[in-house]
Amino acid sequence: MDNIRERLKDVKDEISETAIKFGRNPEEITLIAVSKKKSVETIINAINSGIEILGENYIQEAVEKIEAINQIFVEQPNNIDRNLITTDKKAIWHFIGHLQSNKAKIAVKYFDLIHTVDSLKLAQEIDRQAEKIGKIQNILIQINISEEETKSGTDAEDAICLAESISHLKHVSLKGLMGMPPFFDAPEMARPYFRKLAKIKDVIKRKAIPKIFMEELSMGMSGDFKVAIEEGATMVRIGTSIFGSR
Ligand SMILES: *Cc1c(COP(=O)(O)O)cnc(C)c1O
Repeated sequence: MDNIRERLKDVKDEISETAIKFGRNPEEITLIAVSKKKSVETIINAINSGIEILGENYIQEAVEKIEAINQIFVEQPNNIDRNLITTDKKAIWHFIGHLQSNKAKIAVKYFDLIHTVDSLKLAQEIDRQAEKIGKIQNILIQINISEEETKSGTDAEDAICLAESISHLKHVSLKGLMGMPPFFDAPEMARPYFRKLAKIKDVIKRKAIPKIFMEELSMGMSGDFKVAIEEGATMVRIGTSIFGSR
């Protein structure tokens, strides 16, 4: 399990080295440790090792784990062995899986950033649920850069229109875009897809839509994060390289 600490250090070093190599500030790049299918014990280990942001894909699984971990942190220090946690830093959670509108309420309750907003309907439901609890929910628009039928995300052509519509929602704050290339063995093959996503971000940014920030580009996973950083990623979502295979 202590492997996590070593793997995390390797990943962070690789992120920094890649950033510097391509003239970017390493601090611009946020690491999201993807913990789907990993146990509460493993995640606690990761938090103790210095992971600050965790990414989850499945609402039900995520809620169970977040509740368990929050309890250990704050709620019942006398009942649960607080020694399990060796840091005071409370983890931040990002939702990176496909989100159905009927789960928006739960996502808004538990997640700081939702990476996968792909329709106005979903954005409106998030807005409605966020208003109820007095929250401004940070979101990204997921773009279907791979143009595969089965992949989720909005079509690139619709992204500007969706961003403009979202700008009218008072309890949602659009921070940028997320995308996933098709799966390739060679990371270099992903480059045109990352470039395309970065370009869409720039186009939307140049529209200067009021209240739309467009600073974040969530792209790059274990196999291809270096290429993603070279192409402008500000958030990399890394599971396997930190936690091992699933
Ligand atoms: C699982 C997953 C990741 C992490 O993938 P790894 O290859 O394990 O690094 C990143 N993003 C999304 C959306 C995922 O579903």
